Amino acid sequence: MSDSKRAYSFTKGGLKKFNAVLGVILKEIKPGKDDIERVTSYSNEIISRLHNAVPKDVEIIAAGSIAHGTNLKGSSDIDIFMLFPKTLEERDMEKQALAIAKGIVQKHRNESYIIKYAEHPYLKLRMNDLGIDADIVPAFKIADSKEMGSAVDRTQLHTKFVVSHLSERQKDDVRLAKFMLDQHDIYGAEAATEGFSGYLCELLIHHFGSLHSLIEGMANLSVPIAIDAAPRRVLLEKDLESMAKKFNSRFIVVDPTDPSRNVAANVSEESLARLVLLSRRIIKTPSRATIFGAEYSEADSSRKMEKLGSALGVDIYALAFGTDDIAEDILWQQARKLRKRIHEMLEDCGFMPVFSLEGIENNSAVLTFMVNPARFGSVSVKGPSAFMKGASDEFTSAHSRSPMLYLIGERLAAIDKPKFSTPKELLERFSKGKEKGMPTHLKTKGSRLFVNRIPEAYSKIIYRSLISKRIA
Ligand code: ATP
Ligand code: MG
Repeated sequence: MSDSKRAYSFTKGGLKKFNAVLGVILKEIKPGKDDIERVTSYSNEIISRLHNAVPKDVEIIAAGSIAHGTNLKGSSDIDIFMLFPKTLEERDMEKQALAIAKGIVQKHRNESYIIKYAEHPYLKLRMNDLGIDADIVPAFKIADSKEMGSAVDRTQLHTKFVVSHLSERQKDDVRLAKFMLDQHDIYGAEAATEGFSGYLCELLIHHFGSLHSLIEGMANLSVPIAIDAAPRRVLLEKDLESMAKKFNSRFIVVDPTDPSRNVAANVSEESLARLVLLSRRIIKTPSRATIFGAEYSEADSSRKMEKLGSALGVDIYALAFGTDDIAEDILWQQARKLRKRIHEMLEDCGFMPVFSLEGIENNSAVLTFMVNPARFGSVSVKGPSAFMKGASDEFTSAHSRSPMLYLIGERLAAIDKPKFSTPKELLERFSKGKEKGMPTHLKTKGSRLFVNRIPEAYSKIIYRSLISKRIA
């Protein structure tokens, strides 16, 4: 059978086992009646406090997974949207919204808040006694995506779609899908994860009909693919090409509330590939262990990293930077870009990095490089042909201090001191703030470089990133 024709599908017995396992997991992750009542009543309370505080023309709605009935026990925040009339100016709206949201926080009831930044600044309210967070997010009230000003304006339309299109059973499948993806570090559209958002899970379950069909679909996925989620169809080849171009992506899920939006835009190729492999593993072994993924403990990360380094015969370098207090997505993008740049620099200088990764936590960004031990005394630099008059003169004078100018065939060559003798020398340029073009939000001041012995706090960040990169 040719590879493209190979089909992965559950056997009858496999599907039975899978459903039995899901039944057990669902009981563990689905909020019980009490949980739902507790969260709903708190959500209603916040909504009514906001109602009393906003002008008449501002609407308050519950959105997100709690309003959709797709939330997980304990881990989903309340999402409340304040919908302002479009006649307001954006900055005015943001200002008003924050002032109103701050005004309803009741400190005497042990509530606190922080301001977070996404499309608009929004307020994260923390009910410390109940351990519940509520995001209070401003947006403009719209009836159609054509009126949309910013991406968050779509949320109100998402809620309408999900509430009217998903059955209770499918909502449970969304919960299971979210849990499963989260276990494998691909749940969430944020830059740290580049995975599947809650709304994308909802659309995928709607499209495929159930979790087991979604898994079969993913196990057999070929890209590019464009799914039109509203009519539940896959676009054919002739439309596909223009779609792939339009969205600049090979995995497209068109937002039923806005045909110009790819809901899967943030899903990296790596995350998609990870889901494809996971789906095949589940079909082969539909067990609890496959769904939960490999377990690991963060304890003793420093020692584990050291052991790994010696087992691989590499040196592990960790560059730690402080970060500015800004949106995490930006920090991740900057850290990832810098990590790739340094990885390439190491290669360009002749060193042999075998693996690198980034991690961010608690105002620290840690870039890690596993590099084969190397010390260069000299490098040979190839120059132009001796027959090229100007260029060969230039080369000779540029390398006049070289202990050895010679010829390789017709080409001039020089033995020089390397720019960096060791990976450490190169990396120190970054920790000592000597390198230009540093990302704006990673602070070189106070940054540090560790070799092999990495303090536990940083090792934990690295180890967590490392685990999330593995395929089981
Ligand atoms: P979870 O259970 O993880 O909280 P969720 O679906 O509630 O899942 P959130 O990240 O809390 O996910 O987002 C709440 C709602 O906000 C989503 O249902 C979606 O409609 C909307 N939303 C989130 N991110 C975006 C975005 N980047 N653009 C537009 N809408 C978004
Ligand atoms: Mg939510």
